[in-house]
Amino acid sequence: MTDKPILPGATIGILGGGQLGRMFAIAARRMGYRVHSFDPMPDSPTGQVADVEIEADYNDIEAARYFASRCDVVTMEFENIPSPTVESVAEIRPVRPSARVLHICQHRLREKEFLSKSGFSVAPFRPVQSESDLRTALDNLGMPAILKTAGFGYDGKGQTRIDAPDQIAGAWQKLGEAQGVLEKFVKFDRELSVIAARGLDGRIRCFPVAENDHRRHILDTSVAPARIEPDIAERAQKLAAEIATALDVIGLLAVEMFLIEDGKLLVNELAPRPHNSGHWSFDACVTSQFEQQLRAVCGLPLGDPALLKPAAIANLLGDLWTTGDPRWDFALAIPNVKLHLYGKQTPRPGRKMGHLCATAESSTAALHSVLRAREALMPRA
Ligand code: AMP
Repeated sequence: MTDKPILPGATIGILGGGQLGRMFAIAARRMGYRVHSFDPMPDSPTGQVADVEIEADYNDIEAARYFASRCDVVTMEFENIPSPTVESVAEIRPVRPSARVLHICQHRLREKEFLSKSGFSVAPFRPVQSESDLRTALDNLGMPAILKTAGFGYDGKGQTRIDAPDQIAGAWQKLGEAQGVLEKFVKFDRELSVIAARGLDGRIRCFPVAENDHRRHILDTSVAPARIEPDIAERAQKLAAEIATALDVIGLLAVEMFLIEDGKLLVNELAPRPHNSGHWSFDACVTSQFEQQLRAVCGLPLGDPALLKPAAIANLLGDLWTTGDPRWDFALAIPNVKLHLYGKQTPRPGRKMGHLCATAESSTAALHSVLRAREALMPRA
């Protein structure tokens, strides 16, 4: 294995076939790379734009080794790839980020322990393995609190808020697995995120801070730059860069944070891949998060992540289709709005089908445009 840069014309393997991989593949193909995708489903959002689509179970080591043998480097768009698969790919080709980084980030408890042991502030938490653990943890942390699955959680799946003692048994049953994490409910002023990119040489570039709004625990809108004081933005970027270094990640690291009273920042979650809260970078930055991931994993110099214009995105969930097909033409009548659809065939409630992005003279104006566009495309019942 070599640390020589992997140059255009080479083949990048991407584990995971969702929208993050799709936008990565678009960026990679634009720069003259070939892309092979690996996902259990045929016609995946990534597979649709890749040169080669491998359809196999994530536990299929043979298929993963075959996939790796045809690539020059392997990255991922989904952190919950089973460790044995990632490790066997790593025997054949460089995998960036590494199996170790994935191992930490694919498990909430390991991630929180890594963060707190490395000296980063997180919301107070307790591991829970039984209903009686849960009761003790609630006595310690107080209510309200949020019970989360320790592994394989995303978009708020497997999360239950507990406000009163009569909800404890139900919350434990809903968790439905042996290991969970109880977190104190944080009264935050804002939710922020920073995507840091770290190259093979350890150099880091951070994207501007995003300000995020969640609905039903799913990202709804993301705005950049965040409407916060410059010193908070600086601290948020510094925090993301420090975590990326502590984790020794090669590629991207999205750091979700809560901004709480007195301007303190608590780390909520890490993702070693492109992130929904950086999708505006595709339309609004000198270098998008997807191109930056490509540069990092290929050992190329990182690009400039600067914003060309304030921007906002609004997610398009499957719920939008409930009363008919969205009126794309109405949303696109707003000229500063861009439409991104992920090629998913079945719109289900809560499923991310696409997003809209607007650029404008200010973050607030961009948010206003994108929300107006989303409102415009909703079919009337
Ligand atoms: P997560 O999957 O942990 O990123 O959670 C999804 C969303 O749920 C977050 O972005 C917050 O809006 C909310 N949330 C998660 N944990 C907490 C917490 N400890 N306190 C308050 N809100 C939370």
